[in-house]
Amino acid sequence: MPRFAYPCPGCRTTNSLHDAGCEYEGRDWHEIERVYTDVLSVLADGAVEESTLQSAIPDGPETWSGLHRAALELLRREGRLVETDAGLSLLSAADYREAVSEPTTEPVATIYREGSYPGAHDNSVFAMIAFYEMVGLSWAETRENVIEWLHQSGTWERGGFEESSPGELVDRKRHVYEAGYGWKEKATAAKRVIDAHR
Ligand SMILES: [Zn+2]
Repeated sequence: MPRFAYPCPGCRTTNSLHDAGCEYEGRDWHEIERVYTDVLSVLADGAVEESTLQSAIPDGPETWSGLHRAALELLRREGRLVETDAGLSLLSAADYREAVSEPTTEPVATIYREGSYPGAHDNSVFAMIAFYEMVGLSWAETRENVIEWLHQSGTWERGGFEESSPGELVDRKRHVYEAGYGWKEKATAAKRVIDAHR
């Protein structure tokens, strides 16, 4: 199945399997990728007001569509863009990696902040890997972030792992990254267990 460089603005899939009820199901992928390149090509030149962005897209303001708006919203929601005094500004790759390394979206934020407990480990580690994959980090960056989280959150110290090191644990979950699974369901299950410890 082909994978796409940009996520669906409706359900975030990067292949042709949309979530049930996604309004962009069946939309031509070239069209979806095109709206991202339209928006990003303008932002690449520097910060702009949203109204300026709309009129600056390559084929002219009359081609600005609901799909453009949805793509822009997704970029904003996921922290790829920040609001500055000069308007919307694209984060550099390094700033973006830094920004997404600390998830602020629930339920992953709880897992990140509180760490995992025995009984939630499988779901927590799954969710952390799937989350970093979703926000676009490479495997190496994902691995590094998850290992650091295992240490800093106190998760590894709480025990309950068969593996002998955080690195071994994360490497054994690489299939989660490769498959691009969603993280919400597993994260929700993990958060329930973690919340019971708080
Ligand atoms: Zn979709």
